[in-house]
Amino acid sequence: MDRFTVGEAEIRRIEELRAPMPFAMFNAPDLVARHAGWIFPQWGDADGQWTMVVQSWIVVVDDRVVVVDPCVGNGRPLPDFPLFDMLDTPFIERFAASGVRPEEVTHVVCTHLHSDHCGWNTTLRDGRFVPTFPRARYCIGRREFERWDSRRPDYRSVPANDGVFERSVLPVLEAGLAELMGDSHRITPSLLAEAAPGHTLGHTALCLASSGREAWFTGDAFHHPIELLHPEIDAGTCEDFALTLATRRRLVDRLVERGALVVPAHFAEPHAGFVREENGERRFEPLASASV
Ligand SMILES: [Zn+2]
Repeated sequence: MDRFTVGEAEIRRIEELRAPMPFAMFNAPDLVARHAGWIFPQWGDADGQWTMVVQSWIVVVDDRVVVVDPCVGNGRPLPDFPLFDMLDTPFIERFAASGVRPEEVTHVVCTHLHSDHCGWNTTLRDGRFVPTFPRARYCIGRREFERWDSRRPDYRSVPANDGVFERSVLPVLEAGLAELMGDSHRITPSLLAEAAPGHTLGHTALCLASSGREAWFTGDAFHHPIELLHPEIDAGTCEDFALTLATRRRLVDRLVERGALVVPAHFAEPHAGFVREENGERRFEPLASASV
């Protein structure tokens, strides 16, 4: 679903690309088989693959325009992550077609600083990466910023993410547009960023609460709906899986208790949903209505 409302907030979805990923990465064939009844065909295919969608969310609320996780961006050499290497997609044209002009964006929130969550922070112009959203505050967790700050002597490089800090973070810092967030950071009256570490050490989730309705933008805390029901699934993509597990359990409990919508970074259609609990059993319910 590309447009829906949560309370008074209007949500729009902008897709950059999609790619097949193997179920084998979850190292949980028994769990996939147990849940096959709802996983297939919507959340996976007979060839043992699921679809990872790279997408951004725009939240219009409180007279603000907030972009969550601005994808990979064009023209970035990422040889150790071939899927994202030197992209040339019409993302920014799709963004404009959603009815929001880059100048209208007041905030950009990066749940974390992997290449596919902060790329369009900047745009390549005349050989330089410059802020795409010239009037926005770019909200980045302080822990996350420090973890990826390649200027630090204790910086630990991850080849698949090399160059991302220099191309997508430093230019907004140098333009005076960066706002480093603590573990709990209010962005607008209806939007609160909260530490949700594990996938990366400074990973953040974003809670939207409006007119009694709640939604959580969970970034990469979950990649596939099966992880909502089985937080213990470890695909080997986290910096600290013990932290991921604690974060996931806390988030899912909250989703269930509050009847909150979960809006992850990479889910396939309809891209969001609910975790319902009946008789001690949890199930995933895809978003079916444009009004939450
Ligand atoms: Zn991601």
